[in-house]
Amino acid sequence: MKSIGEHMLRLRKKVLGLVPFEKLDVLTRHFEMLIWFVDKDVASIAVSGNGFISETAIENNPNNIHCAVLDSNLAIDDIKRYFDNDGWAALKQVVDIKRINPTWICKCCNEDSSNNSICCNRCLEWFHFKCVNVKTTLKKKIWFCRICKETYD
Ligand SMILES: [Zn+2]
Ligand SMILES: [Zn+2]
Repeated sequence: MKSIGEHMLRLRKKVLGLVPFEKLDVLTRHFEMLIWFVDKDVASIAVSGNGFISETAIENNPNNIHCAVLDSNLAIDDIKRYFDNDGWAALKQVVDIKRINPTWICKCCNEDSSNNSICCNRCLEWFHFKCVNVKTTLKKKIWFCRICKETYD
């Protein structure tokens, strides 16, 4: 007989699968945005409602922050609720600095990927077409990188 916890986990995996970032359930999406700025442990505590994130927990090197924050369509304010005032101010500061000099880095070769690149719809990382062996004429609107395919599919 399987335990309830195990059953729930399997159910959750089945429901989630490999879906685009914006279609993830709200808490998963918030958790994944939080880990662009803080450790996984801190993010878990925050999304479970057991504490607010303070300034000291936040990554302060803009180079270490996920390039997805450069996308102005990304609703970063959605995660404001998980921070205390100083924490949120610190996050905004590091995002602002990153946006002053925006550079997208290919997750594959670590070089500038501002041109000729494609964004993974699950992890929102950018990859050169040539690095991931994708034709520049790809018509599909949704594309997933190999890492995400292996992790979530
Ligand atoms: Zn590359
Ligand atoms: Zn991906």
